[in-house]
Amino acid sequence: MTARSAESDEYPPCGASSALLAAFLRALATLCILISALPAHTAHSIVIGVLAHRPAHEVAQRWHPLAAYLQEELGKGITVRVIALPYDELEAALARQQIDFALTNPSHFIALRNRNPLSGALVTLVPRAQGSGALNSFGGVIIVHPQREDLRTLGDLVDVHIAAVGPFSLGGYQAQAARMVDSGLPLPAAGRLSFVGTPHDRVVDAVLGGHADAGFVRSGVIEGMIAEGRLSAGAVRVLAAETLPGYPHQLSTRLYPEWPLFAAPHVNPDTARRVAAALLLLDADSPVAQALDIHGFSAAADYEAVERLLRSLRLPPFDGAPQFTWHDVWQRYLPWLLAFALSLALLSAAGFRTALLKRRHEQTQRHLAATLNAIPDLLFEVDGDERFIGVHTADPGQLYAPAERFLGCTVAETLPAEVAAVARQAIQEARLRGRSQGHRYALSTANGLRHFELCVARKEGSASTSPSFVCIARDISEAHQTTEALRRERDLFSTGPVVVLNWAPDLSGRVLAVSSNVGAVLGYSAAELCAANVRYTDLIHPDDVIAVTQELQACMNAGPDHFEQSYRLRTGSGEYRWFHDATRISRNRDGAVDAIRGYLFDQTWLKTLELERDAQAAALAKSNAELEQFAYVASHDLRQPLRMITSYAQLLEQELGTTLSGDTRRMLDFVAEGATRMDEMLVSLLEYSRVGRSGAPLSDFPVREALEEAIRFLEPAIAESAAAVEISGEWPHLHACRNELVRLFQNLLGNAIKYRRAGEAPEVHIDASAHPQGWLFSVSDNGIGIEPAQRERLFRVFQRLHTRTEYEGNGIGLAISRKIVERHGGRIWIEAGPGGRGSRFLFILAPRANPTPN
Ligand code: ADP
Repeated sequence: MTARSAESDEYPPCGASSALLAAFLRALATLCILISALPAHTAHSIVIGVLAHRPAHEVAQRWHPLAAYLQEELGKGITVRVIALPYDELEAALARQQIDFALTNPSHFIALRNRNPLSGALVTLVPRAQGSGALNSFGGVIIVHPQREDLRTLGDLVDVHIAAVGPFSLGGYQAQAARMVDSGLPLPAAGRLSFVGTPHDRVVDAVLGGHADAGFVRSGVIEGMIAEGRLSAGAVRVLAAETLPGYPHQLSTRLYPEWPLFAAPHVNPDTARRVAAALLLLDADSPVAQALDIHGFSAAADYEAVERLLRSLRLPPFDGAPQFTWHDVWQRYLPWLLAFALSLALLSAAGFRTALLKRRHEQTQRHLAATLNAIPDLLFEVDGDERFIGVHTADPGQLYAPAERFLGCTVAETLPAEVAAVARQAIQEARLRGRSQGHRYALSTANGLRHFELCVARKEGSASTSPSFVCIARDISEAHQTTEALRRERDLFSTGPVVVLNWAPDLSGRVLAVSSNVGAVLGYSAAELCAANVRYTDLIHPDDVIAVTQELQACMNAGPDHFEQSYRLRTGSGEYRWFHDATRISRNRDGAVDAIRGYLFDQTWLKTLELERDAQAAALAKSNAELEQFAYVASHDLRQPLRMITSYAQLLEQELGTTLSGDTRRMLDFVAEGATRMDEMLVSLLEYSRVGRSGAPLSDFPVREALEEAIRFLEPAIAESAAAVEISGEWPHLHACRNELVRLFQNLLGNAIKYRRAGEAPEVHIDASAHPQGWLFSVSDNGIGIEPAQRERLFRVFQRLHTRTEYEGNGIGLAISRKIVERHGGRIWIEAGPGGRGSRFLFILAPRANPTPN
């Protein structure tokens, strides 16, 4: 508290100059008092400081009789003085030991005691009560104008204008403010609170004058004013009145003790005790008490209530931040703390458990999600109305639309018609029987056309809900493809002409399994063939069975693991038909036969053709042989009469001799020449027909040797024509008729030399090389060449392009050459010679084991 605030509490405000003057005078008076009080703590002088709640000289004057009383009571030359000091100066004087005792209001006492090492109160002042005895306690009164019906309770004061004595006035503000705070109400707001100062009558005037809605005054003030005739009874109404039995004044608050008198710390305890005793002994009826207008002094009251009030209002000395120690907190809020701690513990436990449960729940969710995602199938759930209520797939490509699009829609609305029909049938079955499976459908998904197998299970609902259906669609596209491939393969066999048989891996002839086309091909049912008493070998033609059995046995013993043969089999109609059988034998790791499988193909038509062909070939061969025989016989036998013609023509010429005319002689020459020519032709024919009939043996020999032998025969012609013969290429060994190959080379090489260009030496090149059909040989020359159109016919008998006078010959050489080549499985033809000049004769030899017989 400052001096200025203390002054403003005690004195009503006036002009600035007068305030300055007043302050100056007050300071001067205080200085005088303090100077006079300097020896206060001497042994013979006691100074009593009294709070100057009114002008100091008035207060000092009022309490002067007390000083006189104490001086007399204490005796022994002790001087007692009373000085009146405002709040702060009283405290300052106390600190400077300028006063020994102090009489002040209770809240000021609490403030001083809090700031100074004071002892407790020695005595408590007992004022003289109006019309009664003594009162050593007082309280606060809240007054309102009696016509203010709106102001009835403490709560009504919150928003009204209040007049009070001052912030440090216990009866004129603090007691009422504490009552409001204790009632849970806020303190009156600063803007709605006017401190009008002492005397308390000012508050009453403010309320009655309408300057304030309510007023705070000390208890007894109203009764005093009424007694003094300054206020009529009922002029004000007391709000929140408290009735205390025996207490004579109206009250709105609890009671607080009256002013205490206490000793300064430096005062001798004995002196303090003697002062207290003197004061307690002051009689109410004594002239001193009368003069002081007090009842006397009582034993010191308890000022704890005042301290609590100051604390609750946060007034000095408790206006700073409260200094709570943990101990204070512990003591004051122990039950609350315990309850709080318990609640906190319970909350923590609940929170921990919730967090634990949440974590477990999240783990379970994650685990479930991971499990679901690991399932490759498409999962969905539909309700009783076939409406999608859940769709899950780890591969969105299994769907043709986002999963959310299905939710809430029915199967029929969402899926393509054929798929919906399958799904609805499956659901219907599950509705009736609990589950259904094996329903298949194909669907165009984001992954392309896929095949699914559907399994549906009924999921029972609760009492109030109908069952739903959990559906699992498994992508079986791969299995479907395999099945389809197998089916196609089976169809391939079952509809084809090849029957597959599985025989027992022994020689029992039992059929273990057979392809389903057996009926169409063999005329037996699979069951008939696989019957325990049926032996396959019994169906084979008696003429073929031994060969078949032997071949099979040979293979099973050590032979190859497959063989092929044709044999006759009795079909279901009783008819024997030819079948080609490709048999495959498989063995286990130990080499033992574990399966014999046969692939039967009806080749009766082929066999018939073969037989026909063989018959025709045989007939042809026979016809050829007869023809050749005829040619041989004819040419051989014709030579005899021809020789007769020639002989007799010669005899005629000799007999007639010179008698023959020139013409007759020429005619006889023509006869002889014709006969010779005919003989040559017959010799040629004989030669032609002898090819293949000579019985010359076949042998393996180097073909080049045949060529070289031919060259040796032709050496005179080669020499005469100065021919150049060149041989090149790769020459083989062949199994052939050596004489015939010599004759072949002799014919071609002889022609190459014979048909040379006039004046040009023949150049002959003979070559041999491998050919896909056998061995290719060529004889090229630089001769006269052959027109392409003429080439083919020259291989026929007696075909020539030139007269005998141009080139000697009878046209049989190339015919014989073709016959030799064809007997050795080959063919012969003519091309133009190298660079388009001359001729090139080419032939391929592919000799079989036996050249074709004539
Ligand atoms: P020949 O030689 O005895 O007349 P060939 O049968 O050997 O009988 O020949 C038939 C015909 O083919 C010959 O008359 C000839 O016109 C023709 N000829 C054969 N070889 C050759 C050749 N190297 N160059 C041209 N013409 C040929």
